[in-house]
Parts: sequence; C-alpha cells; structure tokens
Amino acid sequence: MSARVAVVGSSNLDLVVTASRLPRPGETVLGENFRTVPGGKGANQAVAAARAGAACDFVGAVGDDEFGTRMRASLVDAGVDVRGLRTAAGPSGVALIAVDRDAENFILVAPGANGTLTELDADDRATIAAADVLLLQLEVPLTAVLQAAHWARADGTTVVLNAAPAAALPAALLDLVDVLVVNEHEAAVVAEVASDDPPVLLDALLKLVPRVVLTLGARGAAYADRHGLRLAVPAPQIDAVDTTAAGDAFTGALAVGWAERGASSEDTVTASLRWACAAGAACAQRPGASTALPDRPAIDALYDATYRGAQ
Ligand code: ADP
Repeated sequence: MSARVAVVGSSNLDLVVTASRLPRPGETVLGENFRTVPGGKGANQAVAAARAGAACDFVGAVGDDEFGTRMRASLVDAGVDVRGLRTAAGPSGVALIAVDRDAENFILVAPGANGTLTELDADDRATIAAADVLLLQLEVPLTAVLQAAHWARADGTTVVLNAAPAAALPAALLDLVDVLVVNEHEAAVVAEVASDDPPVLLDALLKLVPRVVLTLGARGAAYADRHGLRLAVPAPQIDAVDTTAAGDAFTGALAVGWAERGASSEDTVTASLRWACAAGAACAQRPGASTALPDRPAIDALYDATYRGAQ
C-alpha cells in the first residue's frame, strides 16, 4: 500500500509576466510573455507528494471563478484527491509575478479563497487520521493549521510543518509539530535568532520542536533531532536551471519518504533526507514551478546516481 499524505494548505494561480526589467512604482513596462501556472505552497506540495508516489489528499479552498476550476483540474491531473477542496464564493488566490532577464522578481499575493479556510470539519479530521503524515505550511489561516495539527496529534498522524512564508509561531502550534522544515531565512525567523549558521539555527530550533530539517539550496540539507542525531546531506550536483518550487519538491518528497520509512533509525532518516534532496535538485534541473515537480522515477534516478554506494 502506498504511503498516505494529507496536505492542508493554499492554492493560488500564478500569473507570470516576463519583462526586460521590473517596473518602478507608478511605471508601466511593456512585458514579453504571459503565462498562468497553478501554484500555492499547499497545492505544490500536494502535487509533489502525489508525483513522488503517495496517495495524497488536499484540503484547501479555491474561488468560484475560472481560476478555481483550473486549479482543481490541475490537482486532479496530478492524482491528488480533492474531496477536501472547497469552492468558496469570491475570487481564487492569485500571485502576480513579474520576472526580469536576471530572474529577479517581485511577487504580490492576493489570498482570495485561501483566507476562507478558517475551520475544518469532521471529513477533514477523518482524512488527516487516515494519513501517515500531515503536511502543513503557513499560507492559510492559522486557525485551520492549528486545528489540523491538533487532530493529527490526537489521531497519531505525524505533523510536518514547512514554516513558509517565514513567521514567528505560537507555542500552541510548535508543540504539535513533529518535524519542522525550513530554509535558512525561515529558520532565523522561527527561532528568532540573527544567525545564518546552520548549527546555531538547529540548536535554537530544537528548543521549539523535536526534529528539524534545514534546507540549504545547492548545499543540500541539515538535520537535527532531540535524540542527538545530526546529519548533513549534500545535494546532487546538477546544473540548476530554475530553483522555483525546489523547496516544495523537497518538502513533498520528504513527507512521502517519512511516511514510507518512518524515523526509527539513522538509516531511514538519512534515506528520506537524501530522497528529498534528489527531488529538490530534480525540480531545479527543469524550468517552471509546479510544472517542474519531479515524478518518482526521476527522483529515484537522481537518488541512485548521487547516493548509491554512499555511507
Ligand atoms: P527554498 O526554495 O525553500 O529556499 P532551497 O533553496 O533550500 O529551498 O531548496 C530546497 C532543496 O532543493 C535543497 O535542500 C536541495 O536539496 C534542493 N536544491 C535547491 N537548489 C539546488 C541546486 N542548485 N542544486 C542542487 N539541489 C538544489
């Protein structure tokens, strides 16, 4: 039986314009290309988990507009179960993204329907209870995140929180987290320390949660837990084309690896982290965001090529 991952989180439609340069306030710049791409950290991580081979349920909200129809269809296409996806009156969440030739960008998000996900219901609780891992981010109201984590803890489902976008978190949520996944910026904000030194960040975060995964871009990932285990996992060496959504690929695959292998030994934790690094790197090898999220054979191939024979 495949691992089950439940995601409670956001879905946005990314409206992306490329231009020779970004406009200044009040200025109009004639752009080049326009494309729409399904996004939002919740939906991206649900698609990442489904492509990585999990049975994945997504609990979230889209608006009653054509963007909502499009996002629902893209989740279904990826094999995500959308019985927990509400359609709320009003607009879907959108991200207005401008990208220039140096890949510099600005991003303006209107949460739309994501903001209506304030409460979960009994069906959501059953979905979370049936999952091995509950995967959360911070792009929907905190009340729903807390409710989901609370039920997961009560029903024996492992809670993985990707604290993105970065925010200081209430103890009520931190107390319910089994595994925290953060990049260096998010780590500093959550830990409320002014440092970019991984060991310092890991020590500070271990005071808040029992297990921490720190993503380090091309340098891979670091891990620490309260049992005293510390790991540094190098990333596959690749030619990065576009690292957008690499963090979502990593987190989705980590949830699947964790659900499949558990965390009973150093070997299982190491394997899950390596597999997640392979997923992040495979995503970075391809242009695009959610469209670049790798499937299981692509993750396995890079994992084998990178780590086979490694201790
Ligand atoms: P975020 O985008 O959330 O800041 P990171 O940039 O740390 O996340 O990327 C997440 C993971 O994706 C990294 O831990 C790594 O495994 C993989 N990754 C990202 N960029 C690269 C790269 N240039 N080369 C290899 N792997 C990468």
